[in-house]
Amino acid sequence: MKHDTPEHLLSDANLVAETGQPLAVPITVAYGDGIGPEIMEATLKVLRAAGARIAPETIEIGEKLYRAGSTAGIAPQSWESLRRTRVFLKAPITTPQGGGYKSLNVTIRKTLGLYANIRPCVSYHPFVNTKHPTMDVVIIRENEEDLYAGIEHRQTDEVFQCLKLITRPGCEKIIRYAFEYARAHGRRKVTCMTKDNIMKMTDGLFHRVFDEIKLQYPEIESEHYIIDIGAARLATQPERFDVIVTGNLYGDIISDIAAEMTGSVGLAGSANIGEHVAMFEAIHGSAPDIAGKGIANPSGLLLAAVMMLVHIRQPEVATRIHNAWLATIEDGVFTADLRGTGGSPNAYRPFGSMDFADAIIERLGRKPAHFKPVRYALAPETPRSAPATPPRRPAAAKAMVGVDVFVHAAGVSAEFLAGRLATLAHQPRPAGFTLQMITNRGVKVWPGGFPETFCTDHWRCRFVGTDAAGNPRTVSHAEVVDLLHNLISDGLDFIKTEHLCTFDGEAGYALGQGQ
Ligand code: NAD
Repeated sequence: MKHDTPEHLLSDANLVAETGQPLAVPITVAYGDGIGPEIMEATLKVLRAAGARIAPETIEIGEKLYRAGSTAGIAPQSWESLRRTRVFLKAPITTPQGGGYKSLNVTIRKTLGLYANIRPCVSYHPFVNTKHPTMDVVIIRENEEDLYAGIEHRQTDEVFQCLKLITRPGCEKIIRYAFEYARAHGRRKVTCMTKDNIMKMTDGLFHRVFDEIKLQYPEIESEHYIIDIGAARLATQPERFDVIVTGNLYGDIISDIAAEMTGSVGLAGSANIGEHVAMFEAIHGSAPDIAGKGIANPSGLLLAAVMMLVHIRQPEVATRIHNAWLATIEDGVFTADLRGTGGSPNAYRPFGSMDFADAIIERLGRKPAHFKPVRYALAPETPRSAPATPPRRPAAAKAMVGVDVFVHAAGVSAEFLAGRLATLAHQPRPAGFTLQMITNRGVKVWPGGFPETFCTDHWRCRFVGTDAAGNPRTVSHAEVVDLLHNLISDGLDFIKTEHLCTFDGEAGYALGQGQ
């Protein structure tokens, strides 16, 4: 696998400039909103004390920009810093409710192609209370596709739609990343979770690509779970899992559950990795309820910064900080969110964010006694940047064999609609189609529908190309346009069309439920 290592990181690996001094790696830093500034101060203090060779450049993001009229929450000039440093340490921000504000996180991930979200979820038993003392799971979530494409439409009075987009290159990148991560970190197993019993084409592709790529990693165990039972097993028996790779929405949900199961959402950091840029952040939000009190737990952001240090080829600093942090937790030095959760003498004397940072700094150079000490290796063993975009496959032979026309019609029956459409399939313009079926919310209601099926005002009408003898045939775009003209001439409100195509002879569309 190719690691697209930015030039300035490679040169930094030598650590010596002409002056003989170690080079500082420029990183972009955002202090964010709510508890963001407090935990960022604490984190940078630990990084500086540990000797991290970084040159932070601060950018403004979040609430202040949203309120000033930027719907994206980031100033245009800030992108320049991100694209130049290619490393972003980000504190949480507050996204104002309503008002058309876009999630800055989703914007950054998608604009910069940060396709892999890595969330280690580890228990710190017996120091932090958890029902799952041996939990050590890494969730690798696809970060750019799925329902998060943000393509949503209201189609009728009653029906709203969100498009779920899954691509083969997207599946290949994230699944290969998961296996590379497992290999680099000595992990034994990768579990794939999808809902391909229902979404046979989209989730089916994710599962199929997993089955293809796993063959290239024979030393790593692999398995697949349907997401519902997989999530249930994760919640009750997390020790069954090691690395989990899954889609965007499922990964979003199960990684928050997994982080909370370890004892506190305030403990987990995450990395968002792309081919060009990487972003590191805590998984929690801006916690406005405790902002400004100096009591927030900086651990999530600090552990994200540890991942960043590995990424920028400073594994020895990452190791020093992580071990000091573990030693601090072992000494029962806790912020208020963990108060009383462990059996420590300090459990009822919570430390503030900065005092907690100072406690870590005091322990720099120490190794934990109870936990296994951490030892990070220098990349390239760590998949800290993306594999090259997978090679594109040759285009398949594509043939159009029909069209689904979605119609907005209230207060009609499927029989009535079918009667009108059957004629419109070939007149007044000779379009050469046969109406094959009508579904409502995906369920076949014609021919042979059930009176019990609840119908809304949104009908998917499937027309297939047929010749004079009624045999299937391919159709052209012009014939689809003729068909739509026929519908318009009868006053029908069509919402959209989806072409029915075969790819190398294989159907590229699902059957209706009950078809
Ligand atoms: P939250 O994660 O901010 O807070 C949930 C609960 O956990 C609160 O009780 C909070 O006090 C506590 N908590 C969170 N982090 C903590 C820490 N480090 N130390 C101690 N306690 C901590 O979630 P929320 O309340 O749903 O969201 C608040 C805001 O954060 C919203 O505007 C949301 O949009 C935003 N948000 C931002 C990000 C991000 O920027 N990455 C992620 C999630 C939510």
